[in-house]
Amino acid sequence: MINVVLFGPPGAGKGTQAEFLKDKYQLVHISTGDVFRHNIKNATELGVLAKSYIDKGQLVPDEVTINMLNAEVEKNKEAKGFIFDGFPRTEAQAESLAELLETKNTGVSGMVALEVDDEVLVGRLLERGKTSGRADDADENIIRNRIKVYYSETAILKDYYEKQNKYHGVDGVGNIPEITERISSVIDKL
Ligand code: AMP
Repeated sequence: MINVVLFGPPGAGKGTQAEFLKDKYQLVHISTGDVFRHNIKNATELGVLAKSYIDKGQLVPDEVTINMLNAEVEKNKEAKGFIFDGFPRTEAQAESLAELLETKNTGVSGMVALEVDDEVLVGRLLERGKTSGRADDADENIIRNRIKVYYSETAILKDYYEKQNKYHGVDGVGNIPEITERISSVIDKL
């Protein structure tokens, strides 16, 4: 199994790249943000809870997120591997993912981190907010809070995977196919 953690701050292009990579490598793409948004749209209990955090640009609590992620993985028993997009975002989530994959005799093959400057991120997210319908993309204060949360809570995962020799940084600025190529050259060596 190949299990890729696609990493990077909000607006780095994880979702866009995952769409290409899942077809290229025949992997199941799980975006925790997309699953939350789907639940919000359908006004499920999970959606109502997640919305109260997402609208402020804060992280949804670990326990809720981990349970949801585990359920998504279990729905895909035939998968050849996964692209995790937006997960893990905390060390507790990373530990839990390792445990889950261990029960399937596999693990995280590598983390691919898209590196993009903060001001480029803000510009991209504001632009996306014009059409995405996402409240958390429409307000510059919420965008800046999401980037702040990324640095204060999520960026430590770089060290976490570096210690396991699984961290691979990729320049996330350029055109979309170019960046797909850069990521592919990392995945091909995993
Ligand atoms: P994203 O689509 O990845 O930008 O996620 C949108 C929002 O969903 C984030 O700002 C968080 O509020 C929430 N979210 C997504 N993934 C996670 C996660 N792994 N842990 C906690 N909250 C998450």
